[in-house]
Amino acid sequence: MQVDQTIHTPVHGLVIKQPEKRTMPSAVIDGQKNLVGLSREELMDALQEIGAEKFRAKQIWQWIYHHGTTDFTAMSNIAKPMQQKLAEHFVIARPTISKDMISFDGTRKWLIDFPDKNRVEVVHIPEEDRGTLCVSSQVGCTLTCTFCHTGTQKLVRNLSAAEIVGQVMMARDCLDEWPTPKEGRRLSNIVMMGMGEPLYNYEQVAKALKMVMDPEGIAISKRKITLSTSGVVPVMEQCGRELGVNLAVSLHAVNNELRSEIVPINRKWPIEELMHACRHYYPEGGSSGRRITFEYVMLKGVNDSDADARELVRLIKGIPAKVNLIPFNAWPGAPYECSSNNRIRAFSDIVHAAGYVTPVRTPRGQDILAACGQLKSDSERKKGEKVQL
Ligand code: SAH
Ligand code: SF4
Repeated sequence: MQVDQTIHTPVHGLVIKQPEKRTMPSAVIDGQKNLVGLSREELMDALQEIGAEKFRAKQIWQWIYHHGTTDFTAMSNIAKPMQQKLAEHFVIARPTISKDMISFDGTRKWLIDFPDKNRVEVVHIPEEDRGTLCVSSQVGCTLTCTFCHTGTQKLVRNLSAAEIVGQVMMARDCLDEWPTPKEGRRLSNIVMMGMGEPLYNYEQVAKALKMVMDPEGIAISKRKITLSTSGVVPVMEQCGRELGVNLAVSLHAVNNELRSEIVPINRKWPIEELMHACRHYYPEGGSSGRRITFEYVMLKGVNDSDADARELVRLIKGIPAKVNLIPFNAWPGAPYECSSNNRIRAFSDIVHAAGYVTPVRTPRGQDILAACGQLKSDSERKKGEKVQL
C-alpha cells in the first residue's frame, strides 16, 4: 500500500510536500503477519490460509478488539494446537511507545514509533463525563496551514489502518480499558484531530474507523467519533455516507482571500464549495439533529473582528452547526498571537446571539505541547517536553 498521491495535485501557489514513497511497514513483523488492521474479511482469508475454520475469525476478532488480547495462548475457546499454529504465523502487534508524558491537567501524550522510524503523537484528554482520544492519520501533513505546527513538519506519509487503530489499542492498554467496559469508559470518544489530514488518507482512516465502530470490537459509536478536515470537499460526501461520523470543519476564515492564505487547501476548494459539502454531509439530513462543528482558530488582528463574526453567521446560515472557537496555541517560531479574551468573548457573543452554541475550547496539555496544532514529531520537539513518566 503506497501513499495515494492522486488527490495531491498541486494547484497554483499551493505548496504541497511530496509524501514519502514507502510501503507500509507494519503488515508483516519478523515474517509473521500482523492481524491488527485486517478487515473481518481479510482476517477470515488469513485464517483460511493456515487451515483454520472460518468461524474462528469472529472469535479471534473479539479477542483482539474486545478483550485486547495480544497472546494467542490466552484465547480460551481455541484448542492448544490451533493456538500454537496461530502463534507460528501471526502476531497481534502494537505500535511502540517511545515517550509517555502527562500534563499537570491530566492530559496524556504518547509519542509512538513505527518500524520505519516514523513517529506520531496520540493525546488523551480526560474530562468528568468522558475521555477523548486525539488520533493521528498521517506522519506530518502535506498541507501547510500557516498557524499549525504539524504543517511545518517535512516528513510525510500516510498511516495504515493498523497504525491508526493501533493508536486506539495502545491507549486502551495504557488506560487499562480491556475488555471493553460498557459504562464509564476512560476512552469514550475519538477525534481524528491529531497529525495529518484524515481525508487525504481516507481509505485507511475508513478501514480503521470501521474497526473502532464494530459492535463486536472496540464498539465506539459513530456519534462519539469526530473527524476534522481542512476541507477535502470531494471526499466529504463519501465520508458522511460510508462512515457517518461527526464532522468538524476547520474554517478559520470567512473570505476566500484570507482563507487561501492561512488554510491553503482553500485555493483548491473554496468556501462556497466547502459550505455546499457541509450542507449535504449527513445522509440523514437536517432533521436528524446532527450538527457540523466549525472550528475557528482565534488569531489576533487576523480573523477575529466583529465583522468576521457577522460574516461567519451569514456563511453558515441554515446549517445545523456549532462553532468551536480555538484560542491559538503558540509553538516555537509561530507567526501569530492569540486573540485577547475580550476579543474572543465579543466574537463568541455575536455568533451565540445568532443561535449557535459557541464554546471556546480550553487548551489542554500545553506544558507537554499536546494542544491543538502543537503536535509535531521531530527532534525539535524535545525542548517542549517537560513532564515525563
Ligand atoms: N488536519 C485536520 C485535523 C487536524 S488539526 C484539520 O485541519 O482539520 C485539528 C484542529 O486544530 C484543526 O481545526 C486545526 O486547524 C487546529 N489547529 C491547528 N493548529 C492550531 C494552533 N496552533 N492553535 C489552535 N488550533 C490549531
Ligand atoms: Fe494539516 Fe490540519 Fe495542520 Fe492544516 S491544520 S497543516 S490540514 S494538520
